[in-house]
Amino acid sequence: MSFATKAIHEGQDPDPVTGAVSVPIYQTSTYVQDALGHHKGFEYARTQNPTRMALERNIASLEGGHAAHCFASGMAAIDTVLRLLKAGDHVIVSENTYGGTYRLFERVLTQFGLEFSYVDTTDAINVENALRDNTRMIFIETPTNPIMAVADLDGIGRLVRDRDIRLAVDNTFMSPYFLRPIEHGADIVVHSTTKYLNGHSDSIGGVAITNRPEDSEKLGFLQNAVGAILSPFDSWLVMRGIKTLAVRMKQHDENGRCVAAFLAEHPKVQKVYYPGLAGHPQHERAKKLMSGFGGMIAFETGSLAASRAVLDNVSLCALAESLGGVETLISHPATMTHASVPEQQRVRLGITDGLVRISVGIEDVEDIIADLDAALQKA
Ligand SMILES: *Cc1c(COP(=O)(O)O)cnc(C)c1O
Repeated sequence: MSFATKAIHEGQDPDPVTGAVSVPIYQTSTYVQDALGHHKGFEYARTQNPTRMALERNIASLEGGHAAHCFASGMAAIDTVLRLLKAGDHVIVSENTYGGTYRLFERVLTQFGLEFSYVDTTDAINVENALRDNTRMIFIETPTNPIMAVADLDGIGRLVRDRDIRLAVDNTFMSPYFLRPIEHGADIVVHSTTKYLNGHSDSIGGVAITNRPEDSEKLGFLQNAVGAILSPFDSWLVMRGIKTLAVRMKQHDENGRCVAAFLAEHPKVQKVYYPGLAGHPQHERAKKLMSGFGGMIAFETGSLAASRAVLDNVSLCALAESLGGVETLISHPATMTHASVPEQQRVRLGITDGLVRISVGIEDVEDIIADLDAALQKA
């Protein structure tokens, strides 16, 4: 089966009782048992829920992994993945990772004895140089948020191949439609399903896909033991969202390319970060790794006054955090998504006060461009 067919059908067998084509929302906390020690494989809904399990089978298939486990948020998924490690272990992380991930690692997990190093993962040599005897995980986000640096996934995949190190990739920005990290050597893939997988800005959720059976077993144990599970209703919403993932991603990509080309030519824009542009430093790598470039773009306006003028004068584009929904969202990373990253580090990474990020939606692209053009005139 190809991608769009799997997205619609995998894990979604019609309900055996009624034939309902949509997987029912099993809104139950527990399951009646036939006799002491005899049940239908379902005991308590933190542990097993048929709606969540249908979604998990679906996403495992789309990423080409062994199993998937869904969580109450992207952060809950990442936190639970990190619990595969133990105190004293060292993790190498993409610098310029999602602000919430950085906060979790630096302000929470360091309290439990995990050590983190942040390196530029666009070059595998930086990862190799950061390796220590106790390195047990490499956590990559690609493309990075918001400046869209594309990691050397194949190079890093080769680096971990014969070592006792898990390669985990946050694939939220590309979705499995454009990039499947397991094909490039990843052991674990995580998503904030809040973004493209659900796609409709109406649910918070996360998922971790594991490729090694021993990791799948351990993550299933942790999902139940820690308990940060995705609710049945949210599981159903994400499943419903994924049915249109293929058509949505095609349109996000088409609109993203148009908006990036428009911005690149605009006199008020100093720089555009989009892997689909020929001038992007990892454009050739992006073409090899990914089957599209998606809808995430960042651009430099030069100053806080200019970025403020753009953000205050858009009308179709919604000023909001988050990304990956059908509607175009625009944001200011320095004060919104990346406010918890220390200023010095932010500026070094290119997350300046003049930087604006857009999650290009699937509206008619002429309308998105006209809105941005009108707002840029005020900058
Ligand atoms: C949003 C996001 C997260 C966190 O997900 P939540 O669902 O908000 O908890 C993690 N990584 C990336 C790349 C994100 O964009």
